[in-house]
Amino acid sequence: MHCPLFREAISARLDGEPLGMSPRALDDHLVDCAACAAWADAAARATRRARLAAAPPVPDLTVAVLGALPRQLPGMAAAARTRLLGTALRLALLAVGVAQAAVAWPVLVSGAGAMSAPMHMAHETGAWNLAVAAAFLAVAAGPRLAAGALPFLGSFVALLAPVTLADLAAGRVQVDRAVAHLLLLAGTALVATVAWRGRQRREKRVAGRRRVTA
Ligand SMILES: [Zn+2]
Repeated sequence: MHCPLFREAISARLDGEPLGMSPRALDDHLVDCAACAAWADAAARATRRARLAAAPPVPDLTVAVLGALPRQLPGMAAAARTRLLGTALRLALLAVGVAQAAVAWPVLVSGAGAMSAPMHMAHETGAWNLAVAAAFLAVAAGPRLAAGALPFLGSFVALLAPVTLADLAAGRVQVDRAVAHLLLLAGTALVATVAWRGRQRREKRVAGRRRVTA
């Protein structure tokens, strides 16, 4: 792993957020890497200073703040929109996960609905699709898991999409079954979006800290 990842973890630790790695791995790196250790010290000092600094005496700005309020609103609205979008993404992922589970469960339990596949193949397909549903639901519950789920989900989509299209063209798959794969596609796109947003947020936080410690 590279230093930027460890600095994200240091930043997260100062904010009391999940590190994205084991605390042990971070501590080991801090022992080995003088640059990151110095960065961690500077970041901790800056954070402490920001938290402990006594508020300097300020004039009463109530009137000025109230007067400026309409101009502040776009910024507040943007933050609210960001939060709302995050919630909407998680709810959509929850819905896709539930639908995917509803499709997979009967196949796992009874072997029904897996075309004319032998019983064990049907069971295996059901288990596999239910695991995908579980991944969607897990990311809906804990968005920070998105990046970790992506290699598996992305590979599955990349492998399944071309063979499904070929099977559709050759009439080897019923349309309704192929349509069920759209759930996989939608869920994976949602997980990728959640992962991308998390990445942006972390980068922004580290950049902010870099400004403070510079
Ligand atoms: Zn380092």
